[in-house]
Amino acid sequence: MIFAEHASLEEKLRILSDAAKYDVACTSSGVSRQGKDGYIGNSSAAGICHSFSADGRCISLLKILFTNECIYNCKYCINRVTNDVPRATFTPEEVCQLTMEFYRRNYIEGLFLSSGIIQSADHTMELICQTLHDLRTVHRFHGYIHCKAIPGASPELVEMAGWYADRMSVNMELPTADGLRQLAPNKDRRQILTPMRQIQSGMEESREALGMKGGNRSAYWHTSAGWGGACPMGSVRGVRHRG
Ligand code: SF4
Repeated sequence: MIFAEHASLEEKLRILSDAAKYDVACTSSGVSRQGKDGYIGNSSAAGICHSFSADGRCISLLKILFTNECIYNCKYCINRVTNDVPRATFTPEEVCQLTMEFYRRNYIEGLFLSSGIIQSADHTMELICQTLHDLRTVHRFHGYIHCKAIPGASPELVEMAGWYADRMSVNMELPTADGLRQLAPNKDRRQILTPMRQIQSGMEESREALGMKGGNRSAYWHTSAGWGGACPMGSVRGVRHRG
């Protein structure tokens, strides 16, 4: 396995936007074309994809994995631990930097963040929470965030990510317990269905408790004007780490 440990940010972006294209939440696009005399601009296939906002507009998102390392060995997945592909992992600060720089240049309206599982589900979810927390509170990012929950992560961490994201979802690649046993032996239905139910009921609870009326704005966005968007679950590092 090749670890791109000392890769530049551009190299990490190439690896981790390419790895994210298999996540079928939306459609990746892009071409690679060098700049040329007499022409304006160049093109780089670096993970811009499209999704639809609550009002039906098509919006551009930076679609990346936090890491394509994974401790699991799902047979259908390019990121499975036994697959010999170049590996890379962002830091939370690198994801913030890329998102802000793409956003400021008007390349994107938001971020789509998914991940392989590094060390443990909770450790990975903590890194994602840290990234979303810093994007919202340090960099004051007001754009759209779609975040994938990591199967098996603790409910406190999924809830915290949901506080900062506009949309949360979980991948359900195989519908039956038997299929999971055969093709994703490290996963069970409970790991996938629990966060799915949590996201569904959490959305309803938040809407009721915070008086949110429709749309797909995050709880953070909804409360930031009133009481600063302070996360009721505390800081990311204050969340119990079970990994
Ligand atoms: S846990 Fe996710 S990233 Fe890891 S091998 Fe399975 S499908 Fe791929």
